[in-house]
Amino acid sequence: MRCTLCPRACGAERTEGAGKGFCQSGLEPRVARAALHFWEEPCISGTRGSGTVFFSHCTLGCVYCQNQEISRGGFGKTITARKLADIFRALVDQGAHNINLVTATHFTYAVLEALEVYRPPVPIVWNSGGYERVETVRMLGDVVDVWLPDLKHVSSGLSALCAGAPDYFAFASEAIREMCRLSGPASYNDAGIMQKGTLVRHLILPGCTKDSMRVLDFIHDELPPGTPVSLMRQFSPVEGCPVPGLNRRITDREYERVLGYFQDLGLSGYMQEKTSATREYTPPFDLTGVEE
Ligand code: SF4
Repeated sequence: MRCTLCPRACGAERTEGAGKGFCQSGLEPRVARAALHFWEEPCISGTRGSGTVFFSHCTLGCVYCQNQEISRGGFGKTITARKLADIFRALVDQGAHNINLVTATHFTYAVLEALEVYRPPVPIVWNSGGYERVETVRMLGDVVDVWLPDLKHVSSGLSALCAGAPDYFAFASEAIREMCRLSGPASYNDAGIMQKGTLVRHLILPGCTKDSMRVLDFIHDELPPGTPVSLMRQFSPVEGCPVPGLNRRITDREYERVLGYFQDLGLSGYMQEKTSATREYTPPFDLTGVEE
């Protein structure tokens, strides 16, 4: 097949095991870790953990990604869609509140196939960088319960520098609008776990508070009122990052500036503690839950 799943629309030829597109992915899913994860927002992780599947490769490839080893490095194991279904089942058996698919856009067909083999009795969470085509989002509309997209930047210059994707905001904004339309308003079970809805994440970058405010403006002005937002301060510099200025954590002043704006707009959701600005919350990518 020639792939146009994501906005790169590179038309790459992809076989089961290999691909020559931007994401370098074949059609069969490649996974670096599948385990209960406790470091998402409380409505996702709950007390028992989110059944999180970390897919290898990425359609964005941000230079500051905390998961470089898998997103840009491609670490992981290639498996079948049937094995992916077995992984979902194992996570449910471990008590997962949901199945949390992290960066799975390039494996959309395999995810759909796996969910035909086994449909978990818990919500399916689509956890992505937000760089999606509306057509692909619609393909997932019947199986995804909770959309968990990032909205990273508005500035096309910043998106070009960080991910070689100057069209990031144009695609992400339309995709997130569609996610909100498909999911309807957020709803939660008695334990406070999100069952339906769209939760938009935004990671504040050092020196980029104005762009963060533009992101919040879009959420306030263009998305349905009450759409929950997760404001994240966990940015941690990665070695060798080529973008000047992304070589430090954000300051308290930067965080407070964006947080104040968030509150002035009347947005609601989640704000991260300062202690979250650490790599501790990046799990080990060691094929846990994939090999056994
Ligand atoms: S999913 Fe990969 S191969 Fe397909 S269009 Fe996007 S980058 Fe290209």
